[in-house]
Amino acid sequence: MVCAGKAASPLVGVGRGRWRGRGRGFVRTGLFAQVTCAGGGGFGGGSAAVGVVIGGGCLGSGESQREVGVERYREWLEIALDEARAGAAEGGIPIGAALIGPGGEVLGRGRNRRVQDDDPSLHGETSAFRAAGRQRRYADTTMVTTLSPCWYCSGLVRQFGIGTLVIGETRNFHGGHDWLADHGTRVEVLDDPECTRLMAEFIATNPHLWHEDIGEA
Ligand SMILES: [Zn+2]
Repeated sequence: MVCAGKAASPLVGVGRGRWRGRGRGFVRTGLFAQVTCAGGGGFGGGSAAVGVVIGGGCLGSGESQREVGVERYREWLEIALDEARAGAAEGGIPIGAALIGPGGEVLGRGRNRRVQDDDPSLHGETSAFRAAGRQRRYADTTMVTTLSPCWYCSGLVRQFGIGTLVIGETRNFHGGHDWLADHGTRVEVLDDPECTRLMAEFIATNPHLWHEDIGEA
């Protein structure tokens, strides 16, 4: 990444996406693979992240690290996707998640088990969270989930101060991730086509089960 000068210039790089942020957190969708900019903006955190959209100028010195981070996020998303697929194979709701530690270690992984365990409180995120057991702190952990978290799971992320939330897709369900970003959670939306396909297929074939899960039965 190159970043110098005063006047903001459009992002130059590979990919597409949208940044949006308020407060300490931000929401990013899509993927930038490489960024070159000439000053302005600044995405290093804090108020600089407010209201910036595509082409919003320099992303700050942390951006190159963030791009590396996106690759890791996609690797972690595969764990969540494996859980989602396992859930589908069990006749359950195909939402999977994993809680990742500061060093990239998998602390816990799980999937929605509403059907399997007859337990509506076992969402993908709560299953992963519970599987991780007790942790001293969560600020440096990452919750990776295949689908935008419902209010219940968004509350969990907020309650325990999980620092980063990585979401496979938000097309089939738009949960509380904007709210989390407003309250300081780093939110990454990967807009993953496989997550989207898996969920869309499930909803189309199991509308009653889906509406039961989101409390609209
Ligand atoms: Zn949930």
